[in-house]
Amino acid sequence: MESFLEVDRLQTAFKTDKGEVISVEEVTFSLEPGETIGIVGESGCGKSVTSLSIMRLLGKQGYIKQGAVKLNGTDLTKLTEAEMRSIRGNEISMIFQEPMTSLNPVFTIGNQMTELIRLHMKMNQKQAKSYAIEMLKKVGIPRAEAIINEYPHALSGGMRQRVMIAMALSCKPKLLIADEPTTALDVTIQAQILELMKKLREESETAIMLITHDLGVIAEMADKVLVMYAGEVVEETDVFTLFDDPKHPYTKGLIDSIPHLEYESSNRLYSIPGTVPTLQHMPKGCRFHTRCPHATEKCTKEKPQLLLVDGQDHHKVRCLLYEGMDVRKGVLV
Ligand code: SF4
Repeated sequence: MESFLEVDRLQTAFKTDKGEVISVEEVTFSLEPGETIGIVGESGCGKSVTSLSIMRLLGKQGYIKQGAVKLNGTDLTKLTEAEMRSIRGNEISMIFQEPMTSLNPVFTIGNQMTELIRLHMKMNQKQAKSYAIEMLKKVGIPRAEAIINEYPHALSGGMRQRVMIAMALSCKPKLLIADEPTTALDVTIQAQILELMKKLREESETAIMLITHDLGVIAEMADKVLVMYAGEVVEETDVFTLFDDPKHPYTKGLIDSIPHLEYESSNRLYSIPGTVPTLQHMPKGCRFHTRCPHATEKCTKEKPQLLLVDGQDHHKVRCLLYEGMDVRKGVLV
């Protein structure tokens, strides 16, 4: 049976002065109603491009080169721009990292929210206004009755972010794509927003795609996780296995970079050496070999495949160390 969302071998490219560059390579995953998938990785790993590809918001230079994105059986890559517009904000909502990209500076918060709510929730002006105020209060906005008459520029970055989250949640989308939704917010508001997202998931069976570099948010929210590196998925598993038994050296590095409670301030926190390669200078072989503590000669030449870990039906890893191997816990420490 087909899943609610099926992303199948998605490949996204951009036109540049120096020719075409592939930003996202063969990303495949599925998502059911009420389920949350976390996509993690450093900046430049392809997380945001994956979500923008699903929304078909790649700008003039970007395009889906191959693959399919099926929502309830409809391949979004085949829809016209007009058909896609009616899906955005209706069936799919997105919370961006930068709130000014989705707030219109020339309309008040109230205008923007009530228009959206009237359109998608079939409410009259009065109902839409009181629902907008209620949603603003739910995301922790003080004086919501007054804020509704303000223009976006009059609000701080954190307040704008919360307005955008209120707008995205107000229409009870079937799929919510949240790209670093709480990065700019303080921890109390962050916790409030995550609670709201959980509530939406429970009440409306909303499927959530959560893009973040914060493994704490992943641990709290996600059912399953894709770890991306340099445009590719390098590990895919459920959230418990990710933290209990990570396989890929990159995933291990990300987990080792999290500060622990017993962490002593005199110890330096681990960080993965080096940086993510640029799209124009992708290393041959395994893309992670320039930063991997386990890299061998073979890794510089041979490209690893994303393969099931032996004996498991949901844990995949892209690393030559595991190819043809009976992978046991702790093999790479
Ligand atoms: Fe490291 Fe080699 Fe595995 Fe790549 S294939 S992650 S370089 S051990």
